[in-house]
Amino acid sequence: MAYRDYICCRDCKSKFIYDGDNNIRRSLEFAYGNKNAPNWTVELVCPNCLARLERKPLTDDQIAQIDWKDGETLHDFARAIEKAHGIGGEE
Ligand SMILES: [Zn+2]
Repeated sequence: MAYRDYICCRDCKSKFIYDGDNNIRRSLEFAYGNKNAPNWTVELVCPNCLARLERKPLTDDQIAQIDWKDGETLHDFARAIEKAHGIGGEE
């Protein structure tokens, strides 16, 4: 299949919507497309990339609440930061 046959994530380029139906394509263009581009311009972001792009830096309060004690390893520190970001958290 040609690249054109799918709507792809603008970030990771993964194919996530089959574009066999031009009516669906048109409604996606209308909702999300670049109105100034010549054609077939829909740019969507897959859920994985969306979550990554929406990640924000921790606030000072969130940093103050990170559960990491002096003497723990760098690995523990990295896991504590991930946990503060809502990533992983098991352990
Ligand atoms: Zn993506």
